[in-house]
Amino acid sequence: MHHFNYHNGQLHGESVPIADIADQVGTPFYLYSAATLTQHFKAFDTPFSPIPHLSCFAVKSCSNLAILRLFAHLGGGADIVSGGELFRALTAGIAPEKIVYSGVGKTRAEMAYGLRERILQFNVESEQELEVLNEVAAEVGVIAPVSFRVNPDVDPKTHAYISTGLAKNKFGIPITEALPIYRQAAGMANIHVQGVSCHIGSQLTEISPFLESLGKLKKFITLLQEAGISITHLDLGGGLGIRYDQESPPHPDEYARAIMEEISELNCTLILEPGRVIVGNAGILVTRVLYTKQGPTKKFVIVDAGMNDLTRPSLYGAYHAIKAVDEHLQSTEIVDVVGPICETGDFLARDQEVPVVKSGDLLAVMSAGAYGFTMSSNYNSRPRVAEIMVEGEKFHSIRHRETYEDLIRGEDIPDFLQESSS
Ligand SMILES: *Cc1c(COP(=O)(O)O)cnc(C)c1O
Repeated sequence: MHHFNYHNGQLHGESVPIADIADQVGTPFYLYSAATLTQHFKAFDTPFSPIPHLSCFAVKSCSNLAILRLFAHLGGGADIVSGGELFRALTAGIAPEKIVYSGVGKTRAEMAYGLRERILQFNVESEQELEVLNEVAAEVGVIAPVSFRVNPDVDPKTHAYISTGLAKNKFGIPITEALPIYRQAAGMANIHVQGVSCHIGSQLTEISPFLESLGKLKKFITLLQEAGISITHLDLGGGLGIRYDQESPPHPDEYARAIMEEISELNCTLILEPGRVIVGNAGILVTRVLYTKQGPTKKFVIVDAGMNDLTRPSLYGAYHAIKAVDEHLQSTEIVDVVGPICETGDFLARDQEVPVVKSGDLLAVMSAGAYGFTMSSNYNSRPRVAEIMVEGEKFHSIRHRETYEDLIRGEDIPDFLQESSS
């Protein structure tokens, strides 16, 4: 469910015609629907209400302050993977005691920042990281709340780049080898062991891998209890998939029911780290057609958004449905929708059925809310696009389109090059 629908032949974001937004802010831009974000957050979070739980939104999927603030208002926490994301989450008003810090390569400075802010939990991924965290916590003069990210060696059956819970992946500590590190941590002066964490991948469209890993986690928690280490927090990560095309991922209701059934006797606070499932279908990328061109073997639609603005198609071969903003463009054809970047990998769609368009027409790249803007870059010195949030009959700029000045901010020409060439 989302709020990007046709009314009177024109695609709207909630009650606002998208063409009107494009006229006012230019293209390309990301457009998010506040109603959809709210609805998706609640649809995910509410089914867990029978048990103590915390939904920590995965900031890396969509990190705009306005969106984080919206989730803060709904009681959400944050799952962060860098000091920069911690800064964003705190600036947006997410309470530190609702922030969990994931990631395989935290620096000492990032650890110190999280410790000073008294975040809920560090998800530690290696023995060396544990030792460093213990040292940094001693320097800061606090006790670090720790959970270990264990790797259950479960196949999430998703794209290789976003599978994280297999033995061959860089993430976590193999669950079969994790007991000694828990013992070690329990004896450390500035570490408080409180949890077990796991995140097996993204865009999962079946429940069984979640349950398989949960089964392994439960056995492991029993093992810990027998070793005298009690666990108060169980973090199941994120990863629930969405529908981009023909996928049929489980509804959050079904996901929640299956999990709650499994953990009823555990007596832990459940932490969840949803990203894509909340924002993926709550955002679109709006782009304008620049040119069309018939090549010897295929037709190209050249638009003003490129792989620097939405990288998922090039990076993962990901599919995004593409709709005409004007519903009257009904006939379709198979084309490549490509951007202006000097790379053959610069495409938003390949051999895909899209409406027949001409220069000046607007296209909506659907399901672009997650890993869209956050993965965008300035490649080819293209200013990053605007982000807009629609809310009922109004729309708001939540990030201005970058200017050329923004592009060179922070760059310096050293003294020895100051003299301009003659
Ligand atoms: C990326 C990530 C998430 C979010 O994944 P989604 O598929 O967007 O739900 C959650 N936890 C961790 C540790 C992650 O790396």
